[in-house]
Amino acid sequence: KVKTGLAQMLKGGVIMDVVTPEQAIIAERAGACAVMALERIPADMRKSGQVCRMSDPRMIKEIMEAVSIPVMAKVRIGHFVEAQILEELQVDYIDESEVLTPADWTHHIEKHNFKVPFVCGAKDLGEALRRINEGAAMIRTKGEAGTGDVSEAVKHITKIKAEIQQYKENLKTESDFAAKATELRVPVDLLKTTLSEGKLPVVNFAAGGVATPADAALLMQLGCEGVFVGSGIFKSSDPEKLACAIVEATTHYDNPAKLLQISSDLGDLMGGISIQSINEAGGKNGARLSEIGW
Ligand code: PLP
Repeated sequence: KVKTGLAQMLKGGVIMDVVTPEQAIIAERAGACAVMALERIPADMRKSGQVCRMSDPRMIKEIMEAVSIPVMAKVRIGHFVEAQILEELQVDYIDESEVLTPADWTHHIEKHNFKVPFVCGAKDLGEALRRINEGAAMIRTKGEAGTGDVSEAVKHITKIKAEIQQYKENLKTESDFAAKATELRVPVDLLKTTLSEGKLPVVNFAAGGVATPADAALLMQLGCEGVFVGSGIFKSSDPEKLACAIVEATTHYDNPAKLLQISSDLGDLMGGISIQSINEAGGKNGARLSEIGW
């Protein structure tokens, strides 16, 4: 109960990646509902080719002291000790993130063992429900972080919605439900609740490749309940203006007149790299982060 509380409050908002207290203050002033404290944003991690770990807790603490909005921080997939450390630091939320190098290629963190709430990425319904079953209080699309290409985030939210619709129509008998739950590796009750409510039982945000106000509004119109913006904002020529614009667009996502106003004159946006330029086996732009592991 307590764990889902904060996610409900974040609903409709924008969570921004920041690497310094100064950036965190810009994000807070622009109306971000939370910040994600990081040493390097995904666009730079992608280029580095190094092992990416939890950020220095001291740096996270400086950001926590600089702002009054909730502060999130990332741990490696399966790295429950990094999570213990961040819980001790009293961050508001932990992102168990594929953007960092996984610490365990088979198991995610048993998130029920923690008091601090977790957000996890998902590309489809099964992945979302497995993370929720492990205790995630919030789900986000994986998207393709660090690219400025929104298409993977679109793919993931569309897939989750389509699967919910399809299973709602096709699963009829107890044995249909049981077979699907086994296939997805989730408890049958969790699957049933999700299908009867027609949506995930936790707050569902968009993430990965969001770079413009229109991108944020697109994902909101597709049914996301808020947006994470990573590399987009502080890779643009006028972060302050773009940050405000993305917050506005997330609020007024279904108002084209407002979106027109918000989208104009934003300066140079993140250059980005298209999904097609990323070789799945890992080319000069690296492998797809969303397809690492499983
Ligand atoms: N995503 C990443 C990046 C992983 O490394 C793993 C590892 O096992 C998974 C997802 C696994 O997820 P699932 O439980 O959906 O198979």
